[in-house]
Amino acid sequence: MSIFKKTEEVPKVPDSDLSRLDELRRAVNEVFLPEHACKSVIKEIDRLEKTDPSLAEYSIGLNYLDFILALPWNNTSGENLDLGRAERILDGEHLGLDHVKERILEHMAAGIMFSKKPSKILVVDDESIALENIRHVLTKENHDVSIAGNGQAALELFEHTEFDLVVTDLKMEKMNGIQLMERVQQKFHHTRFIITTGYATVETAVDALKKGAAHYLPKPLKLDTLRQTVKEVLNRKRTIHMARGTVLCFAGPPGIGKTSVGRSIAHAFDRKFVGLSMAGLRDEAELRGHRRTYVGALPGRILTELQRAGVKNPVFMLDEIDKIGQDFRGDPASILLEVLDPQQNDRFLDYYADIPFDLSQVMFITTANAVEKLPPPLLDRMEIIPFSSYTIGEKKRIARDYLIPRQLKAHGLDETDLTFTETALDGIVQGYTREAGLRNLERAIASICRKMDRIILSQDVEVPQEIDEGDVLRFLGPPKIVHEIRENGERPGVATGLVWTEFGGQIIFVETALMKGNQNLITTGSLGEVLKESAQTALSFIRSSAEQFGIDPNFFKGNDIHIHIPAGSVPKDGPSAGITIALALISLLTGHPVRNDVAVSGELTLSGRLLPVSGLREKILAAQQAGIKTVILPARNEVGIEALDREVKESAAIVPADSVETVVNFALRRQEDSDDRRSEVMKA
Ligand code: ADP
Repeated sequence: MSIFKKTEEVPKVPDSDLSRLDELRRAVNEVFLPEHACKSVIKEIDRLEKTDPSLAEYSIGLNYLDFILALPWNNTSGENLDLGRAERILDGEHLGLDHVKERILEHMAAGIMFSKKPSKILVVDDESIALENIRHVLTKENHDVSIAGNGQAALELFEHTEFDLVVTDLKMEKMNGIQLMERVQQKFHHTRFIITTGYATVETAVDALKKGAAHYLPKPLKLDTLRQTVKEVLNRKRTIHMARGTVLCFAGPPGIGKTSVGRSIAHAFDRKFVGLSMAGLRDEAELRGHRRTYVGALPGRILTELQRAGVKNPVFMLDEIDKIGQDFRGDPASILLEVLDPQQNDRFLDYYADIPFDLSQVMFITTANAVEKLPPPLLDRMEIIPFSSYTIGEKKRIARDYLIPRQLKAHGLDETDLTFTETALDGIVQGYTREAGLRNLERAIASICRKMDRIILSQDVEVPQEIDEGDVLRFLGPPKIVHEIRENGERPGVATGLVWTEFGGQIIFVETALMKGNQNLITTGSLGEVLKESAQTALSFIRSSAEQFGIDPNFFKGNDIHIHIPAGSVPKDGPSAGITIALALISLLTGHPVRNDVAVSGELTLSGRLLPVSGLREKILAAQQAGIKTVILPARNEVGIEALDREVKESAAIVPADSVETVVNFALRRQEDSDDRRSEVMKA
């Protein structure tokens, strides 16, 4: 049996399916697909017409076409470029975060300035009627339009002006449109070209595009198409200009408003908002889709989310990009590089769609808890905007002005039904949440609102009008946060330090012990390499300057030293615990305990000097939350400390220190101190 015979035996596509294919064919025109997409879609429809509808392949093909046609090839939401309004919205939806808001508004201002400037367009055509027509149309669109009757005249105009866009005829004497483009682009890399011609063939179009034209239009020109194309090409140029190297990356601990500021930006500029979490993404295909040759192939998340948004210019938030995995199934981070690169993202290729899609008008914003974890090329693409922890005061103000009204509304309550006293709020913030952000605080408020709902509905209990600290205790149970500091007491060999983690500042306790052994240094407590090295440096420093602290220089002989940093599931690393380890060891070896209301942070050198540390605000706030009264920080951090908000500076006494000696003198509780204390107790 011949192959031809077999083909003829394919059952005829039933009428209903034919009309479905016709519908798709009609949709191709309505959706105003770009030419390259249009060709692929028509080819697929032609193929389906010859395919047996009972085959799985047929429905796979239909799904594919539905997906492609539903992509927002041309839909954009109208952008609002009123900076004053944007500022009001950002201010109205978030308390504080001034530097963040300022950076966002500056970022947008640069783009708005660029878009408000009339574009300089040069029209080149040897037919004067065409020249005048195009000039008329584009001038009406508020562009600054010049004209030239041939290529040479056009080049002369370029001697004085760099045009944003050239609309040129292809066939002209002496120098054709493509030759003109090549000459201009040797010198002016950012000038775009639209080539027009009455001799349109697929080959000339492909040739023009290959050589760098942004678009190709057949003559006679349809004025609407011309207008639309010019707008698109200029828009893309503007977006590339705006986006070059400046994808914003909101960095900071969880719950401090990164996502909600992203939403506000979308609101402020009237764009749609799309969020996509990158946490735990392991497979490249999740972002880029599977090739359709795979059974059950699906498009990637980027295009799926854009399709759901229905516009090609949303604010697209890629959340937690520092949590992307990397393994044998490809490298999702490298796709991010492609997606965020304005030079490449106008041709983003999803394997399922298999047709390049233009992402250049999307405003990408990324978020990360720890930017240090990002690969350098990715980091290089973005402008980091740091978000930092809130003070207790800020948390209470945000709770009162934003979180409580929102939760009351979400639970069917009214602000007049229920108010929170200042001490109740204080109790919630300090007794039930220890976090840089506001997640647990919002959860605790929601929990109280739920309990109130029950009380109101049960009708047999008196409904409180005001939540005070007693109600908080009744609704939320005993406080979850205990002050380990006070409970720990003061023992020689234990010191409190401050470190920075991706969840914000944290206090750590360094415990040390000396025992018979063979001069081994044992370190435990999920410590990273840097912290182990800090321990080694601290020990060597103390061995080399033991006498200065009144320690027997042979203390290590015949002994082992164990350093342990308990508590907290977060792996700890970084050099800033160096001084804490040294302090704990000196305390152990001198027998004097460290004051338990003091915490230290600083990198230690082998000669006992203190090097500056980062995350000052986070560390001081963590100390405040833990009930620490005094924080000792490297003297070389003084400028950074000076620059902190007053509220942060006032949350603990800050003591600058430049050497271990200063730290020891301040933090160790010596005999005289104990005597003083004893006499105080005696007096009492
Ligand atoms: P992140 O994305 O940083 O993890 P979210 O954006 O989810 O944090 O913020 C957690 C909650 O706190 C949200 O309900 C958010 O609206 C609220 N929030 C955070 N910062 C502020 C602020 N400065 N003003 C008002 N509400 C805030």
